[in-house]
Amino acid sequence: MDKLLERFFRYVRIETQSDGDVASCPSTAGQFNLAQQLKSEMEELGLSDISLDEHCYLMARLPSNVSVDIPAIGFIAHMDTAPDASGLNVKPQIVENYQGGDIALGIGDEVLSPIQYPDLNKLHGHNIITTDGTTLLGADNKAGVAEIMTAIAYLVAHPEIKHGDICIGFTPDEEIGRGANLFDVEKFNAQWAYTIDGGPVGELEFENFNATSADVVCYGTNVHPGTAKGKMVNSMNIAAQFQLMMPSNETPEATEGYEGFYHLKSMKPSVAKTELGYIIRDFSREGQEQRKAFMQQKVDELNLQLEKGRVELVLTDSYFNMREMVEPYPHIIELAKAAMIECDVQPEIKPIRGGTDGARLSFKGLPCPNIFTGGYNFHGIHEFITVEGMEKAVNVIIKLVEKTTEKYS
Ligand SMILES: [Zn+2]
Repeated sequence: MDKLLERFFRYVRIETQSDGDVASCPSTAGQFNLAQQLKSEMEELGLSDISLDEHCYLMARLPSNVSVDIPAIGFIAHMDTAPDASGLNVKPQIVENYQGGDIALGIGDEVLSPIQYPDLNKLHGHNIITTDGTTLLGADNKAGVAEIMTAIAYLVAHPEIKHGDICIGFTPDEEIGRGANLFDVEKFNAQWAYTIDGGPVGELEFENFNATSADVVCYGTNVHPGTAKGKMVNSMNIAAQFQLMMPSNETPEATEGYEGFYHLKSMKPSVAKTELGYIIRDFSREGQEQRKAFMQQKVDELNLQLEKGRVELVLTDSYFNMREMVEPYPHIIELAKAAMIECDVQPEIKPIRGGTDGARLSFKGLPCPNIFTGGYNFHGIHEFITVEGMEKAVNVIIKLVEKTTEKYS
């Protein structure tokens, strides 16, 4: 397990922040530095079919060591870190045997406080890895990368553990929503996979929002204000009227758990034309369709009140709840649950109020739930992870491999 920390520290020191303003894939060259490092470690481990493509997708396989047919399973993590905070010169610090209270982050004024982050109260006695207060940590998702590599190294060193083909995939640009874009599911060639990209120990996720963007365009008539009487139609007034027709208690700030919402996230106003950018989220497909129909109905009502054609709605689906792709194969979740329980981890199944690469991979034909890394507070300087949580993740990966072999032999 010393190797686990060594790996993690080695990976977080390589800057791999992705950049949503760059169209190419990978969006930043730094991601190749980590990919090259991982590729040579895979070579040292003697893995098969190692490939790093021009878009920075790294894949490899630990071949089956049994003669029976055991389904190939995959483990996936992303190499980039979030654009929200710097990932340059990450200097992780370890607080051994945490006993409560504030943790000073580096030598500045920043602290990690249990008042702000009550999860810390559950971690007394644990070894906590934090930032130095100037960068994010990059546990999202280099902890996942380190955990997968450590588990694979363990399996290589312990051939007495029988397994089928184990496929490993490390992706670029997940944080800017593109990690699944160029992922070659056919080449990866697993029956199903798990992203190791969740938070606290026990997290197991296979449900995410259905997501649609809804652009409402309101058209006005612009006339010089001095001679506007009876002629001007101000599109900003139409837009305001529309927003007031939306349910005020179905917004992100008023919902949680399995509740969906409408969210007005941008506005481009002028007298002649005002664009309202909404997103619609719901866990059920039916609910999502109802929400889309509701918006259309409100647009139609408004058009009846005004002159026809003043308001337009454009709906674009962006991703779907992976539950419908995972549920037909209940063993994928059952194996993960069983592996966790055998590793003394209580599975915490909860819906993701967002999307994941796993969801998009699931719709590309690779069912792909998400498993914890052991980390907290991703994407900022208060990110931290426990050594114990990382070890649990490694154990769960190894156990999952064993349980799969058990089930199919
Ligand atoms: Zn992540």
